[in-house]
Amino acid sequence: MRSTRREFLGAAGATGAGLALPPLLFGGGPGRGKKHIVTLSFDDGFRKSSARTAEIYGKRKLSACINVVASAHMKDFRPPDYPDVPRGDFVLWNELKAAGHEIMPHGYRHANKRSLPLAEAKDLVLRCLDVFDKELKGFDRKGSVFNFPYNASGPELEAWLPEQVRAFRTGGGGINPLPHKGQVKLTTTSFGPGNCEAAIDREVEKLLAKESGWLIFNTHGLDDEGWGPLRADFLERLLGRLLAIESVEILPAGRALARVGS
Ligand SMILES: [Zn+2]
Repeated sequence: MRSTRREFLGAAGATGAGLALPPLLFGGGPGRGKKHIVTLSFDDGFRKSSARTAEIYGKRKLSACINVVASAHMKDFRPPDYPDVPRGDFVLWNELKAAGHEIMPHGYRHANKRSLPLAEAKDLVLRCLDVFDKELKGFDRKGSVFNFPYNASGPELEAWLPEQVRAFRTGGGGINPLPHKGQVKLTTTSFGPGNCEAAIDREVEKLLAKESGWLIFNTHGLDDEGWGPLRADFLERLLGRLLAIESVEILPAGRALARVGS
């Protein structure tokens, strides 16, 4: 049975309380197309969280969107700003990809490319894509989405990247137009360093209040792993709530774009 925005809010519990409820803008119905896409874009490739995320999505026949740092499994990798959390490697990434999940690049070493000289930033992107070509079976860089670490890009990089990849994800707000040809810039929002669940609920509400749109929310680890985590059981409930809404489809970013071609 399909549910409504009101039910989504009700199921959200305390985080939805107190919000004024705008009129219902969608209702769905037999044969009506999906008008809202939700992508939770999981960064950093923590081993435990990634495996659990894939399991939670897989149980519902959904594909998770997992973005990993190309050198994170190498001995000399130094993690960025938060306490070290064990990372997955390409053995795991190949397993998850073979199971139908999306594994996409999140930089060679998680550098903030906005703070680097352009040539160095480009070199890191290309090294990242080279590792993916070599290590991830079936990886197609021309169909890939490059997910900027810290969602930090710059105009020159943004102009250059579409020659290398299908699209890139950077900062700029969570709600995008529905996938279309020529869409190379995806923007996202995030929340941290604490729990990001209330922020996800707020963004989903914003999405559902629109006639149509594509929410890309940048998540990280589950439970206590990484920056701005969410609880595994919240993720389970969230997917259940979203699946109950007729107009909503849950997709990884690359697959959403692949449907419309380049
Ligand atoms: Zn990251």
